[in-house]
Amino acid sequence: MQQLTFYLNDESDTCELGKSLARVLESGLKIYLHGDLGSGKTTLTRALLKEAGHTGKVKSPTYTLVEPYVIELNGHTVDLLHFDLYRMSCPEEFLEAGFRDHFNEETVCFIEWAEKAESALPAADIDVSFEISGDGRTVELRSLSEKGFRCLENLRF
Ligand code: ADP
Ligand code: MG
Repeated sequence: MQQLTFYLNDESDTCELGKSLARVLESGLKIYLHGDLGSGKTTLTRALLKEAGHTGKVKSPTYTLVEPYVIELNGHTVDLLHFDLYRMSCPEEFLEAGFRDHFNEETVCFIEWAEKAESALPAADIDVSFEISGDGRTVELRSLSEKGFRCLENLRF
């Protein structure tokens, strides 16, 4: 298992980590983001999407639960799904919405508040946990699969 901990002084550090992650993404990755409201999950994802070639706006998927994007990965275009399950009331809602279909080797999935869908979700490749500490954030990245391990091993931050 690969486990990395960083202290992020400010928003620009969080964005830099997002950019670094964008450079080591692989198709099929499932990355779950944990941490209180305002801890930096969307900030990281937004910076990552920009670095991966998305040029438009990145909205927080608070009400839509998911926002789809198209990114460039090693010369291929891949769908990146950005979920925010904060407003989901139970795991069944995740299944009924057909969200399971988005999880395959052709996509990359980022999920905020994955704990809301618990049992309905496939296992994560990487868990990212944010904690508000002082004026900044402590972030821990943990690999939970071979693919996740490879990704964190290549991460330069
Ligand atoms: P979440 O998606 O976890 O609810 P957001 O990314 O929407 O959180 O909001 C995070 C807030 O914290 C933003 O106001 C952002 O400017 C700020 N922020 C992000 N990273 C840091 C950091 N490392 N230190 C201090 N503030 C940060
Ligand atoms: Mg958010």
